[in-house]
Amino acid sequence: MSLFSRNSGIKLNKYKNTVGMAVVPVSTPERVYVPLPSMEGFSCTPAVSPGDMVGMGQLIGKSESRRLAPVHSSVSGTVEAIEEFPLPLGGSCLHVVIRSDGRQDAAEGIKAPAFGDRESFLKAVWASGITEKGESCISIAESFDFPEGSVDTLIVNAAESEPYLTVDHMTMLAYAEELTAGCRSLMAGLGIPRTVIAIEENKKDAAELLEKYADESIQIKMLPDTYPHEELRTLLRETVGRELPGRKKPVDAGAAVIGISALLKLQQYFEGGMPLITRSLTIEGNAIARPMNIEAPIGTRLSEIIAFCGGIKEGKRLGKLILGGPIKGTALTGASFSVGKGDFGLICFDEKYAIGGRETACINCGRCNEACPEGLMPALISKAWRSGRFERLEALNAGLCTGCGACSYVCPARKPLRAELAEAKAFLAVKDAAEQEAEPLTEEEGGGL
Ligand code: SF4
Ligand code: SF4
Repeated sequence: MSLFSRNSGIKLNKYKNTVGMAVVPVSTPERVYVPLPSMEGFSCTPAVSPGDMVGMGQLIGKSESRRLAPVHSSVSGTVEAIEEFPLPLGGSCLHVVIRSDGRQDAAEGIKAPAFGDRESFLKAVWASGITEKGESCISIAESFDFPEGSVDTLIVNAAESEPYLTVDHMTMLAYAEELTAGCRSLMAGLGIPRTVIAIEENKKDAAELLEKYADESIQIKMLPDTYPHEELRTLLRETVGRELPGRKKPVDAGAAVIGISALLKLQQYFEGGMPLITRSLTIEGNAIARPMNIEAPIGTRLSEIIAFCGGIKEGKRLGKLILGGPIKGTALTGASFSVGKGDFGLICFDEKYAIGGRETACINCGRCNEACPEGLMPALISKAWRSGRFERLEALNAGLCTGCGACSYVCPARKPLRAELAEAKAFLAVKDAAEQEAEPLTEEEGGGL
C-alpha cells in the first residue's frame, strides 16, 4: 500500500495496543500540584491560601479573562503551598499544592448550572474550566463565541489519528449516550441545528454505538484512517466540505468544533456541576510495564502515573518520555511535571527511541510536499527560513502550517521540518502583529480626530 493516502495526509501504522482497555481511575495521589496558567498577559490568580481546606471542584484559580479558563481543585484536602514550578513546554507558573485527605468530598455548592439565555449558557461553559485536548489555558467557551445564527453545524472531533492514543476511542465506547446528550445540550444552548461527529474508520464500534443514541440532528461521519484529521482545516474540509481561509476560525466558516473528551466533561458538568478536575490519558510506549488508559486528577505527578502503570518494564530503561502523541507531543526532561488540563497521552520509550538519526542533506524527493495536508511545500519553507529569506515565507503560505508533523515524519533526511515551520509561522505572526500596531487609524476608527 502506498504511504500516501488518497486524501493526502499519511497512512501510519497506528500501534493502538490499548484498544479495548477501559479508562481506569488512578489512585488519589497524596498531593496534587495544580498549575495556574497564564496567557496573553492574563494569569489565573490564587483563590485560596496555604492552610485553607478545599473540596473537590472548588475554585482555586480565578481568571479575569473570557479566554482563560478558571482552575478548580481536583482533590479534597488542605492547601499546603502556592509555589512556582516548571511547565512541560518550558517556562514556569504558580502551582497550588494540595495535600489530599483521601475522602474526595465535593466542594459545597457544586450543583448543575442554571442558564436561561445564550449569554448565561456561555458563562456557564466558561465557568466549567474546560479546555480542549492539548490546550492548558484557553476555555472551550472561546470556540462558541459567534454571533447568534451564524453557525449551522457543531463538529465533534473524534478522530484521534495519532498512533498509540486510544483514550478518546474508549471514552466513546463507555459514554456514547452522554456524548450524544452533550451534542443536544450544545445545539440547544447555542442555537445550532445539527451536529456531525467525525470518526476515523478504525473506530467503527464507537460509531455504531453513537449511531444508536443519535437522532436526526446528529450525523456520524466516517473519515479515512489517515493522519492527521484533528487539525481544524483538515477536519472542516473532510467533515463538512468547507475550506477554512488561512488564520480564520471554524466559526468564520459556519462551524463550531469541540473534541470528544471536552464534550463529555461539559455534559457531565451540565448534569452535576463538577468542573474540569480530571483528565483521561493513554499511557503507552515500549518501556512502560502496563500500557493503560487512565483518568487522573489534574495536578497528579507524571511519575505517580508511571508507577500506577507498573513502572518501567523490567530490563528496559526510560530513554524518551513524550507528553501527548508520538508525532506532535513534547519530549520531556523528566517525570516531575504534573498533569495539566490539556494532557491526553504519555508515551514512554526506551533508549533505542531516544537516539535521533543524524540530519542529512535534502534529496528533493518531494515526500514532504505530498504528505502535507495543507498543500504546503515544507522543504522550500525550511530553506527560506534557514537562509533568512523571510520575504519568501508569506508567498509560501508558511502561516497556514498546522504543525501536524506529517512532513517531518516522512522525511528520509530527518529534517526538523515541523520545528522550523513552527518557527517560521511564529515569525510571521509577530510580524503581522507589529504591522497592525504600526498601521495608522482610519477616520472611522478615530484617526481623523
Ligand atoms: S508543513 Fe505544517 S501542515 Fe504541512 S505537513 Fe508539515 S507540519 Fe503539517
Ligand atoms: S522529504 Fe526531506 S528530503 Fe524529501 S524533499 Fe522534503 S525535506 Fe527534502
